[in-house]
Amino acid sequence: MGKKAPSTCFRCEAEATTREHFPPKAFFPKGGNLQLKTVPACSKHNNGKSGDDMYVLVQICLNAAAGDNLAASIFKRSVIGALKRSPAFRAALNEGAEWLESGARRYQVDMARFDSFFDSLCSALFFERYGIRFEPDIHHINHLYLSFESKDPEYQPSREVARREVADLLQTLSDRVEHFEAAKIDEVVYQNKIVDPMGARASITIAHSFYGCFEVVSLLTIKRPPFIFGQQPH
Ligand SMILES: [Zn+2]
Repeated sequence: MGKKAPSTCFRCEAEATTREHFPPKAFFPKGGNLQLKTVPACSKHNNGKSGDDMYVLVQICLNAAAGDNLAASIFKRSVIGALKRSPAFRAALNEGAEWLESGARRYQVDMARFDSFFDSLCSALFFERYGIRFEPDIHHINHLYLSFESKDPEYQPSREVARREVADLLQTLSDRVEHFEAAKIDEVVYQNKIVDPMGARASITIAHSFYGCFEVVSLLTIKRPPFIFGQQPH
């Protein structure tokens, strides 16, 4: 009596032993009452432990940092220390990197780690919004990284198409778009727009923006139509 049932993880049936912050704490400037959102997580699905958070943060900062902007100050605060402390982290970042003629360094991005990070972020948003777990059996999930340059000639046009389609979609459904801004300190760290006119059991589009300039679109596409009990197909 009075004992609260243990909550289950936002990604699996295991008992939650921790809470996953989303977006991760490391993405925010120090200080201030951030009141970050959290979801219950088992230790396996606590993304902070996998190193994906830091990896993604570094890549976003490399892409978005300019002058004195927020991404640049986050880079100085969180990333440089982590790079100094961890040889494994430096090695992961330098994998496939090359020097350009201009003297700049081009980093290759580990897309599997990005996908893993965004799968987790979308699952957390899903869990918080609908109160149920995101099921890869029901939705196919994929992420379009609108801010990355690519050597793949096929990627560039599809990125432009995606950018346009998402802008059109947000425009058309502007009264149904849920807009969320995480703690704002001078500049917005993270915001998203969710388009889900049919709710949890249909296709959902999530447009993420980090530091006002790094953009990712996640497409949660329904794999099969929901089965409605008693309804005959025609
Ligand atoms: Zn789990």
